[in-house]
Formats: sequence, structure tokens, C-alpha cells
Amino acid sequence: MNRLKVLLFITIHPTSEETKDQRHIKMPPPTTFWDPRLLLDCYPLRENFKCTGTTKKGARCGQTFIENKSKSDSDRVLSILSSEDIIANGLGDRIKNCLRILAELTLCPRWHRGSQINTVYLKWFRTINSFITEERSRSSIRAGGK
Ligand SMILES: [Zn+2]
Repeated sequence: MNRLKVLLFITIHPTSEETKDQRHIKMPPPTTFWDPRLLLDCYPLRENFKCTGTTKKGARCGQTFIENKSKSDSDRVLSILSSEDIIANGLGDRIKNCLRILAELTLCPRWHRGSQINTVYLKWFRTINSFITEERSRSSIRAGGK
């Protein structure tokens, strides 16, 4: 690398001690625009977290056996979702993919992972869409209507 390249590299990737230290600490997403855990009632890191699938009787599945890796991965997906400004930008492909992955990760492997990914995805998709509509109308009222 010549000097200019080195300089540019340092400018783009700051390597001060402070930044390095921060990198070791688990960094929260920079900004949170909404709370997908609350909206979707999905708290994978809580004790006794239950599968997000639905039983034949229409109740939430009571199955708590979901691999720890799936739980921590799904929490990461939730953090990504919360950092997306869905009220301004709506539900793009990236978010839709995240929701599918989230559904798969939070369904119990025993009964629902194979059969309900799409059902849960669609349910969440509708929930989020009405949330967006609500939030948008609320903010336009705040802004004096239109
Ligand atoms: Zn289940």
C-alpha cells in the first residue's frame, strides 16, 4: 500500500483505541425506529419463550423447545428490524426477508417450523402494515393534517 492508500484506509476505518474498545462491547443498533418485539409479541431471549406458531385451536403454541442459537439469531434479526425506518420507507424486500427468517427461527422445530413459516410471516406482515398506516396517520395529524 502506498502512503495515500494507507491514509485513506485510516480515514475510512478509524483504529483509535477508543473505537477498538467499543468494538469489543456488544454494540446496540445505532437508531431504533420501532419496537418489533413489542409489536409482534416476540421476545426470544426471555425465559420460557414460546413458539410463535398457532395451534389447531387458534391459541399460541406452548412449545418452548427452540435451540438457543435460533433464539439468539432471531433476537439479532429483531434488532436489525428495529433499526429500519419502516414508517418512512414501508416494507421493502430486505424487511420481508428478515421477517421470513424470523418466523423460521422462532417456530418450534417439533411442530411448526415445517408448516407455519408462511402463515406467521403473513400475520406479521399484516400487523406491521397496519402499524405503519396508523403511525403515518398519527404523524400527519400531528403535523396539522393533509
Ligand atoms: Zn409450535
